[in-house]
Amino acid sequence: MEEDEYFVDLKRYIANLSEELKVDEPEYERRLNICRQCDALRNGMCGKCGCFVEMRAVMKKNHCPDFHKKW
Ligand code: SF4
Repeated sequence: MEEDEYFVDLKRYIANLSEELKVDEPEYERRLNICRQCDALRNGMCGKCGCFVEMRAVMKKNHCPDFHKKW
């Protein structure tokens, strides 16, 4: 699967998750903005945990895996 296709698939997957599981849009953007400025971010993936941050950051139960949690 091409990288672009993968991200489209990821966005579709996120859109279909139950709203109860997801943070609201401002919190999602807040988290992603922190990730965008983080040195651990590589091609959309967090170097600390190997997750795609768009997926990790959307879930209420998740947090930044860094020792000093950034969100
Ligand atoms: S989840 Fe945390 S460590 Fe990973 S890229 Fe985002 S801010 Fe950085």
